[in-house]
Amino acid sequence: MSDALWIAIAVVAVLLVTALVVGLVRYRKRRISLSAPDATTQIDKSGGYKASSGITFSGPSTAPPAEKVDPVGLPGVGDDAAVPRDAPKRPIADVKLPEPPVAEPPKPVLEPEPKPEPKPGPTPAPAPEPEPTPQAAPAPEVEAIAPSEGRLERLRGRLAKSQSTLGRGVLGLLGGGDLDEDSWEEIEDTLLIADLGPVVTANVMAALRAKMASASVRTEADARAVFKEVLISELRPDLDRSIRALPHEDKPSVLLVVGVNGTGKTTTVGKLARVLVADGRRVVLGAADTFRAAAADQLQSWGSRVGADVVRGPEGADPASVGFDAVDKGIQNGADVVVIDTAGRLHTKTGLMDELGKVKRVVEKRAKVDEVLLVLDATIGQNSLPQAKVFAEVVAITGVVLTKLDGTAKGGIVFRVQQELGVPVKLVGLGEGPDDLAPFEPAAFVDALLG
Ligand code: GDP
Repeated sequence: MSDALWIAIAVVAVLLVTALVVGLVRYRKRRISLSAPDATTQIDKSGGYKASSGITFSGPSTAPPAEKVDPVGLPGVGDDAAVPRDAPKRPIADVKLPEPPVAEPPKPVLEPEPKPEPKPGPTPAPAPEPEPTPQAAPAPEVEAIAPSEGRLERLRGRLAKSQSTLGRGVLGLLGGGDLDEDSWEEIEDTLLIADLGPVVTANVMAALRAKMASASVRTEADARAVFKEVLISELRPDLDRSIRALPHEDKPSVLLVVGVNGTGKTTTVGKLARVLVADGRRVVLGAADTFRAAAADQLQSWGSRVGADVVRGPEGADPASVGFDAVDKGIQNGADVVVIDTAGRLHTKTGLMDELGKVKRVVEKRAKVDEVLLVLDATIGQNSLPQAKVFAEVVAITGVVLTKLDGTAKGGIVFRVQQELGVPVKLVGLGEGPDDLAPFEPAAFVDALLG
């Protein structure tokens, strides 16, 4: 009986164990089916560490250099990792904790914000914008031309050399009171040295003596007023100094510019063209100086700067035919004025002076020559007179242009040129600049001459 009991208990126990095992297995199977294993689940190699968020990137400056811990007894680069056992022990208070500085580092992070400063970088970019503006400036091909009024005023400074002779020399003597004969002789010498020439000098001396005797000249200012009056009158302010450049009813006016090579002829034609264009005139330039290769180019350059047409022929072409063509073009284009630049070596070659006469004759078959301007170089003083006389014999000179007055002490040559040629100085060259051409005005000139 007890054996059977034991067998029954064993069977029940086996059944219970079997049921437990079967139940457990079925339970497990059910769980797997409920949540399928995530194929993407990676094997955790962190040892249990889980980051709460993504990686934060920062600029180099944001990483605050961990405040250096007291290096004494601590390993540095290349040292042993472990503190040598024999190193003196550090108290814990000596070790600075890096926590406080951690709050500060964000500041350097903010600093880069001013990096937008480089944004102003693009601001300078608009700066070059003005560049296009100057680019737009050359658009108008024609240059701005300085008004011709008051140009002689500039002479005041440029006549410095002549001033020292006439101004200081004569005025110094005149202002000194009663003049003895030696003083008068000294005045006469000064006038001659200043290139006034014997005739003008004699006239000035006579007028000065008379005025000094009659007028009550006591101060240097009085003397200056008297001297000025005498000089102005000697320059004959009554002469007509206008340039005959106004057009005729159906034709342009024609100006012939003559003179020795190098006196400044071509430059004067260019400067004159500017003044005419500034005055609203339509201008044609004739490059009849066909002997000098560069002359036509030089004139072309002056012409294009002011928008004037330039008529030129091949090198060595007949100057008369170029002059004729220029006038012809002027007539056809309805120009107001034709200015013809001629060759300058004419007086040195027999027969070539006849060429100049021919130019005038041929041109006049087409239109009347209104003005013949003789260009003289003031720096050569009275030596320019023989040249002037040769030209005057061939073509009837109607006016003189005295160039390079800015570079000479011989300003007095103006008096002599007028007196000996019997034609007025109409224009003066005051420099190499494009607008350094001034109308000649006796009073302003004398003012400038006396300083
Ligand atoms: P051209 O041979 O008679 O046509 O003479 P250019 O016109 O070629 O001028 C000769 C030189 O004189 C050039 O270097 C000009 O710049 C210069 N020149 C012309 N007029 C003047 C002036 O009034 N003053 C100065 N200082 N130089 C001038």
